Amino acid sequence: MNIVVFIKQVPDVPNIRIDEQRMTIIREGVESIINPLDCVALQAALELREREGGRITVLSMGPPQSEEALREALAAGADKAILLTDSAFAGADTLATSHVLARAVSKLRPFPDLLLCGMQTIDSDTGHVGPQIAEELDLPQVCGVNEIHVDGDLLVLKRLSEGFLDTIRAPLPALLTVSKELCPVSDLSLGAVEAAFTQKDIIRWAAHDLGLHPDEVGLAGSATHVRKLRQPAARTGGRIVTGSPQSIVDALIRKLESMSILDEED
Ligand SMILES: Cc1cc2nc3c(=O)[nH]c(=O)nc-3n(C[C@H](O)[C@H](O)[C@H](O)COP(=O)(O)OP(=O)(O)OC[C@H]3O[C@@H](n4cnc5c(N)ncnc54)[C@H](O)[C@@H]3O)c2cc1C
Repeated sequence: MNIVVFIKQVPDVPNIRIDEQRMTIIREGVESIINPLDCVALQAALELREREGGRITVLSMGPPQSEEALREALAAGADKAILLTDSAFAGADTLATSHVLARAVSKLRPFPDLLLCGMQTIDSDTGHVGPQIAEELDLPQVCGVNEIHVDGDLLVLKRLSEGFLDTIRAPLPALLTVSKELCPVSDLSLGAVEAAFTQKDIIRWAAHDLGLHPDEVGLAGSATHVRKLRQPAARTGGRIVTGSPQSIVDALIRKLESMSILDEED
């Protein structure tokens, strides 16, 4: 089974900075990690490869520093890594991002059997990218999967939705987005990390390698436009109210009144 895992390198959320001129997130020079759910997707791919055979390709669109995330994925056991990087990709919304990722998948030979994404990221957190790639490639998609079994040419999937456990059969090839319940992520060995950083190659594709015109990608190819972006206010510490139930309620009411959240007449 040939599997593609989509990996996004995300800024460690407390370190996010904003370019207020361009209304974009500044990714360069910020400490970054692999989006946690993409680690879950990669772990699931490793387990499927163990059971079914095949190869795992990891694919990321991002600035050159995203190479680190792909090297980590190689250290975890991925067979091949492709970085989609081009200054023309900067400022992409989710549609322009999905377009580039889908085009890269369509270039792969053989065409993959299974495409795995995280259900959402910890930075932009839209959950759009997986479903949009599936739409563009005209593939069946199942989101929020927490169990994957292969039965011949079919996938048998489980997912929790609104308190119910769905069991879904889907044909291959398909795209799945995975939830955190799918499987725990294993630690990396130091030797594997060293080999991934010193001995493995990363393939790089720019817009022209994908046959994409600059107008189709990045800010120019985006269907949406960000009008305002602002840094969330840092949280101040909470206060624990102790005492009898009545005195706790009285203290809370006084506090809510002082913040004009509750009217004295309420
Ligand atoms: C309206 C709008 C405008 C934006 N404008 C800008 C901008 O100007 N500049 C800017 O830097 N960002 C911008 N962004 C953010 C950028 O679009 C997202 O970083 C990107 O599209 C991924 O979206 P997401 O993080 O919500 O992914 P989700 O849809 O939450 O991600 C789900 C999964 O898709 C996969 N995935 C997502 N992104 C990638 C990727 N790049 N490579 C590989 N796999 C991936 C991963 O498996 C991930 O777990 C904008 C977002 C929106 C909604």
